[in-house]
Amino acid sequence: MADGAGRWRRRALLSRSALLLGGAAFGSAATLEAARVTDRRSRLGDGPASTTAGNRRQDVGAGDVRVVWDVPVGTPLVALTFDDGPRPQWTPMVLDILAEHRVPATFFLVGERARRHAALVRGRLDGHEVGNHSWAHHDLARMDPAAVHDDLRRSHDAITSATGLAPRLLRPPWGHLGGAVLHAAARLDYRLVLWSLQMVEREFPHDPAGHARRIVGDVRPGTIVLGHDVGDERRLVALAGLPDMITGLRARGYTFVTVSDLLSRAAGPGAAR
Ligand SMILES: [Zn+2]
Repeated sequence: MADGAGRWRRRALLSRSALLLGGAAFGSAATLEAARVTDRRSRLGDGPASTTAGNRRQDVGAGDVRVVWDVPVGTPLVALTFDDGPRPQWTPMVLDILAEHRVPATFFLVGERARRHAALVRGRLDGHEVGNHSWAHHDLARMDPAAVHDDLRRSHDAITSATGLAPRLLRPPWGHLGGAVLHAAARLDYRLVLWSLQMVEREFPHDPAGHARRIVGDVRPGTIVLGHDVGDERRLVALAGLPDMITGLRARGYTFVTVSDLLSRAAGPGAAR
């Protein structure tokens, strides 16, 4: 503590003498204000809200990042997505239900969990897609660009080595976006995929059939549905109702596709990338 305080005092003395020197050369009030603005800019420039990083030429790939909630398609297609896995509790059950009904889905995996529970998903994701849901489910919107990039890169590598599939999609935890997330997504050439409809387990306690009916009724062509294959027992309302949901949507003429398949079917000029 004494050392820290001493360092702080020395730094304060140094900066005061630097300001005094500047004041002598250029006029003190203007210099003080310029110093404050520069200081504020440089701190904010590196912060989580900034879409730029550093003063050198930026490596941002194609630099064409889009945020996708929903995909305009002319036919009844729907994409089921499951976040936060893999974990032993519900992930195998969800994979079993999807396999039984031959439904492809997109799993937004947490990198650290993919590494730890690789055996749960290895060889079980044929026909499915994986996306990156960060390394440890921290709030990326509160990290600076370098930290977001490192987090996603680490997660990307863990997901790729656990599943044999390289994610092309990014869904930040809670859908929280900061400029740093956009910047990292550009650098890593990810599509940012959110959702247009989510499971609402809390509104249907102990009523999987009622929950399934709600979701089936709310889907429109191009809907991206958010679910979770990780969480407490309340999640079971959605997961136990998954077969009903699948049957109900098929009865309405819907076909299940992965998010990338959905994006490739987008209508309109320049819709697909
Ligand atoms: Zn999540």
